Amino acid sequence: MEKINWFISKNKRSKSRFAIIFLDIDNFKNINDTKGHDIGDKVLIHISKLLLGAVRENDVVSRIGGDEFVIVLPEFEDDMVIIEVVQRIKDALSKPLKLDSNIYDSITASMGLTIYPKDGEDATTLLKNADIAMYKAKELGKNNYHFFTDSLNEIIQEKVHMQKLMANALENGNFKLFFQPKVDIKTSKIVSCEALIRLIDPKEGLVPPVKFIPLAEESGFIIPLGEWIIKEAIRDIKSWSNTSLSKVKVSINISAVQFRDKKLLETIKEYIEYIDASKLDIELTESVLMSNFDENIRIINKIKELGISLSLDDFGTGYSSLSYLKKIPFDTIKIDKSFIDDIEYDKQEKLFVNMIISIAKELGLSVVAEGVETKGQLKYLKGTECEIYQGFLCSKPLPKEEFEKLFLLYNGMI
Ligand code: C2E
Ligand code: CA
Ligand code: CA
Repeated sequence: MEKINWFISKNKRSKSRFAIIFLDIDNFKNINDTKGHDIGDKVLIHISKLLLGAVRENDVVSRIGGDEFVIVLPEFEDDMVIIEVVQRIKDALSKPLKLDSNIYDSITASMGLTIYPKDGEDATTLLKNADIAMYKAKELGKNNYHFFTDSLNEIIQEKVHMQKLMANALENGNFKLFFQPKVDIKTSKIVSCEALIRLIDPKEGLVPPVKFIPLAEESGFIIPLGEWIIKEAIRDIKSWSNTSLSKVKVSINISAVQFRDKKLLETIKEYIEYIDASKLDIELTESVLMSNFDENIRIINKIKELGISLSLDDFGTGYSSLSYLKKIPFDTIKIDKSFIDDIEYDKQEKLFVNMIISIAKELGLSVVAEGVETKGQLKYLKGTECEIYQGFLCSKPLPKEEFEKLFLLYNGMI
C-alpha cells in the first residue's frame, strides 16, 4: 500500500499511468490439502522467485496474503508492455515445478489488471477493482488475465446485490413457490403441476429464476435454497391432502449442484415422511449425470426407492443420450419447449418429436410436452401418444391460491 500510495503521489504530478496486477494462484488449496502446508510454503517461495524473475527491475512484487500476489508496474509505454509482463509470468509458472528432489505439476494463476488513474485514484479502489478483474479471469476458466472495466464493476455490483437479496429473502419469507399446471391432453383436466421458484424483491417485485438460480448455483446458495424448496413443496402437497387437490402431483427441480450436497438425500428422506411419496416428482436435467456419474446414480436410485418419481427435464437440448434412459429409472420425459415451438410447421421438428415419443413409449415412459402456447401445437400433440402438456396455453406459473382456483375451475369443480 505504501508503494502504491507513493506511485500515486508521484504520478499525480507527472500525470502518467501505472498498472497493478492482482494475481491469485489457481487451486492452491489443493496443494495445501494434498501435499501439506510445508510443501505449500515452499511452493509459495518458489512462485515468489518466479514472479521476481518475470518482472522488470523497477516493478514491485508483493505477497498480500495466502496465495495472492500484487505486482505494480510503475512505468509502461503502452498496454502491450503489461501484456508482455503477464505473458512472461504465465510462461514462468507453466514450467514443471522442481522442489527439493521432487517434480510437481506446473502452476497456473489468474490475474486481474487495473491502470491508474483510469480504474481508480486511490490504492484501495485500484486493488479492489483488480481483485474484481481477477475474479472475472477465474470465471473465464482460470490461467487467464482480465483488465478491469466499468461494466465489469456493474456486473459484480449486481451479483453482490442479488446475493444479499437472496440471503434476506430466505430469512424474510420472500421466496415463493409458484405452480404451473400440467394438463392431461385427452381429458383436458389438470393432473399435476411443476413448482417453480420466484424471488420477491421488496423494491422491484418478482424476480425470475434465470436472474438468480445460476448465481445461487455458483455461490452454493442453491443448497440451503434447495432445502427450502423441498420442504415448502412437501408442505404444500400436505396442505392439499383431504381436499379436491389431493391427487395433484407436484414436480420440483433439483439442479446438478444440489447433488454435491451430502445432505440432499437425508433432507428428502426426512420430509417425505409427511406425505404420500407418490405425490412428489423430481425433475432432473442431464447435467446431473455429466459429473460424479456413479455417486449421483446411487443417490437417484435411493430417491426412487422412496417412492418418488423422476422426470428427465429439457429433453432434446443436451446430448440426449439414450443410454441415460436405460441407466436411470426415469418415469417421464419432458420434451423441451424448443421442439414444441415449431411443431405445427416444421417437418423435421415433427419427426424429432415423434421419434422421442415413440422411444419413450417403447421404454414405458410417459411424455410431457413443455412450453405449449398455441391451440395448433396442442392439436398436433393430440395426434401423438404424448399424454400431458404444460405451457402458457393453459396457464403461466401461478401463486398457490391462484393455482388452486384454476384447478377447481378447469376441472369443473366450481
Ligand atoms: P424449467 O425447469 O425448464 O421450467 C420451465 C420454464 O418454462 C419455467 O420458467 C416456465 O415458466 C417456462 N414456461 C412454461 N411454459 C411456457 C410457455 O408456454 N412459454 C414460455 N415462453 N415459457 C414457458 P421459469 O419459472 O422462469 O424457470 C426457468 C428455469 O429456472 C427452470 O426451467 C429451471 O431450470 C429453473 N428453476 C425454476 N424453479 C426452480 C427451482 O425451484 N429449483 C431449481 N433448481 N431450478 C429452478
Ligand atoms: Ca423443470
Ligand atoms: Ca424444462
